[in-house]
Amino acid sequence: MSKYIDLRDNCNKELLVAASNCIKEGKLVIFPTETVYGIGADGLNANAVKNIFIAKGRASDNPLILHVSSIDMINRIAYIESKLEKDLINAFFPGPLTIILKKKEIVPNIVCGNLDTVGVRMPINNIAHDLIELSNTPIAAPSANISGRPSGTNIKDIYDELNNRVDYIIDGGDTNIGLESTVIRVINDEIHILRPGKITYDDLSKYGKVVIDSHVLDKVKATDKVLSPGMKYRHYAPKTKCVLVYSENNKKLIEKMKELESENTLVITHNKNINLFKNAISYGETLEDISHNIFKILRSVDKYNNDLVIIEGVKSKGLGLAIMNRLIRACSHNYIKI
Ligand code: AMP
Ligand code: MG
Repeated sequence: MSKYIDLRDNCNKELLVAASNCIKEGKLVIFPTETVYGIGADGLNANAVKNIFIAKGRASDNPLILHVSSIDMINRIAYIESKLEKDLINAFFPGPLTIILKKKEIVPNIVCGNLDTVGVRMPINNIAHDLIELSNTPIAAPSANISGRPSGTNIKDIYDELNNRVDYIIDGGDTNIGLESTVIRVINDEIHILRPGKITYDDLSKYGKVVIDSHVLDKVKATDKVLSPGMKYRHYAPKTKCVLVYSENNKKLIEKMKELESENTLVITHNKNINLFKNAISYGETLEDISHNIFKILRSVDKYNNDLVIIEGVKSKGLGLAIMNRLIRACSHNYIKI
C-alpha cells in the first residue's frame, strides 16, 4: 500500500517534503501535472527509473520525459543546441510542451531507451513544480497508467490500478488539460510535432516552420522508422471494441453513427447530439472539454459491457489534432472517415 496525501484544496510546499524524500530515496511517486498524472522517480537514478518501467509494464525502448523546475536543471541534463530550441523553451516553458534535446552523459540510458536524446518538460502545475524543486533532481515521469491504458487524469481512476505499484500518491484533483504534453523535436531548423497536445501547430508556427509527423494520425508500419518510439505502441484503449467516426459534414457523420448503432452500443458524442442516440454519453461541448474529459470517459466504458463503442471524431485542427491522435489509438486505428 502506498502513502496518500490529499492536496486538492491545499498545496503548501511543506506538505510535499515527504514525497520529495521518497524521490530522493529512489522510490516512486504519483503526482499531478497540468496535463495528466505522472509516475515519477529520480531521473538520474537508473535503478529508480527501472522501477517505473516495471510498475507500468512499459517497453524498455519507450523513453521517459524528464521533468524540470528551472533552466539550470535543463542545462544539467541536455544541450540546447540551436536558437530555435532556445526560443521555444523561452516561449513555452513552463507549460505543456516537451522538447527532445541532445542528452548529456549524466542521464542514464534507461531513461532515453538508449537514444542520444532526452525529452524535457517544465510543468506549470504548482505541485509538480514544487516537488521537482524540493527533490532537487529532474523527475522522470511517464503518464500514470498501466501501459496501453488511458492516461490517468484523477486519482480515483487510477488508484486501484497503481496503488500497489508505487510508494506515494499525491492527489491534486482533476488535471486541467487532460491530454499529455505536445512533444516536439527541432530537426534542420524545423519543428517536428511527434505528439500533438495543448500547444498547437499554430502556437508553434510563430517560431518557425512546423512539420506534423505522419505517424500522428497514421498507423506505424513494421518497416517504418519512427522519431518517437511511443508512436509504435497500442495506447489509450478500453477493452471494449471502439470505432471512431468523422465527417466534416455533420449530417453524414450522424447518419453513419446511427447506422452503426444497435441495442448494445454506447455512443460517445458532442453535447448537442446526445439525444439522437439510444445510449449515449457526452464528452462536452468545446475541444477543451473533450480534452479534459476523454481519458476519464475511455476509462469508464468497459463497465457498461457494450459490444461496441462508437466515438464521434472532431476536426484534426488545433487541439482537435491532439484529441484525434488519442482517439485513433483508443480505437486501434478502427477509424471511419467519410
Ligand atoms: P508518456 O511518458 O506516456 O507521456 O510518453 C512519452 C512520449 O514521449 C512517448 O511517446 C515517447 O516516445 C516520447 N519521448 C520521450 N523521450 C523521447 C526521445 N528522447 N525521443 C523521442 N521521443 C521521446
Ligand atoms: Mg503514456
